[in-house]
Amino acid sequence: MRTLFVALMASILIVSPGFSQSRPVPTNIILLIGDGMGVSQVTAGRTYKGSLELDNFRHLGLVVTHAYGKDYVTDSAAGATALATGVTTYNGAIGVGPDSSQVETILERAMKKGKKTGLVAVCSITHATPASFAAHVYSRTQQIEIAEQLASCGADVLLGSGWGWFVPTAQGGRREDGRDLISDLKKSGYAVATRDEDFGILNASGRKILGLFAENHVGPAQERPVSLREMTETALASLSKSEKGFFLMVEGSQIDWASHDNNSDQVMIEMADFDDAVGAVRRFAERNPETLVVVTADHETGGYGLVGGSQEEKSVRGKFLTDSHTAAMVPLFAMGPGAERLTGIQSNADVGKKLLMLWD
Ligand code: MG
Ligand code: ZN
Repeated sequence: MRTLFVALMASILIVSPGFSQSRPVPTNIILLIGDGMGVSQVTAGRTYKGSLELDNFRHLGLVVTHAYGKDYVTDSAAGATALATGVTTYNGAIGVGPDSSQVETILERAMKKGKKTGLVAVCSITHATPASFAAHVYSRTQQIEIAEQLASCGADVLLGSGWGWFVPTAQGGRREDGRDLISDLKKSGYAVATRDEDFGILNASGRKILGLFAENHVGPAQERPVSLREMTETALASLSKSEKGFFLMVEGSQIDWASHDNNSDQVMIEMADFDDAVGAVRRFAERNPETLVVVTADHETGGYGLVGGSQEEKSVRGKFLTDSHTAAMVPLFAMGPGAERLTGIQSNADVGKKLLMLWD
């Protein structure tokens, strides 16, 4: 009797008019990843800034980050691959499943739907987090191959650093195969900047853009001539020209590195820099409400805890359990169509699956 009732209710829901239309489908998805950003990193950044752009988000969750099998503590490759593809994989994996086979990413799904796509990071664009959205290799160390795959993936915006991975050793780069991928990209129509002073030309280009502002990684936030917020605004200006919408991933890459270094002051600075980029995205989403914004982390780094501090002096006394990653759950913040689906406790792969499902 009970089964019959449930079946009856289900059929009523399926046939009721408007039910399927009520499924929220965002035109744009913007995923911001604070690498290594646990709850203490967010709290430290909040003390430093007084308040956060993140304070404005109303849909919050916690994300479980374990990697595949015995990899209880994840690395950034498995963590980003889970968010990008919905597949739980082994540490080191870039866009591949546990059997090393290629899996579709949300960026690739966006392209299939005719949307524009972009990746923005404050580290080499070939590094694990951005790479996991557009490359497929069995190990994160294969940055020569990752550069090739990024150069041919067709993304509309690639902003970060690491030009050395794209050009031959004869030109000061790292490629032993003699290939010059940057020259190839220019020929295929990309506007390219590899010096900070050329950043402005990307804004006005109206073309696909590639901006790589250091041979390998850019420095810490206080030394970066082009901030994550500025790169994010440039990406948004370019991608928002798409009528069919876009997917953009923005990474606060060095929250993780400051946490590996057990440098509490630097955690605050990198966290503030990341939150400024969140602000640029939030303002865009307010003007363009068909945009889903998701902010989360790939894992926590440092086992960071706050044992003291001063709100008045905007300082914290931080302690670290380790100079590696931890398995602690990380926060998730969402706004826009579909945001309510991302609340509660879920795995990083669940987050990836939900994003893919929105663009089924
Ligand atoms: Mg990273
Ligand atoms: Zn790390």
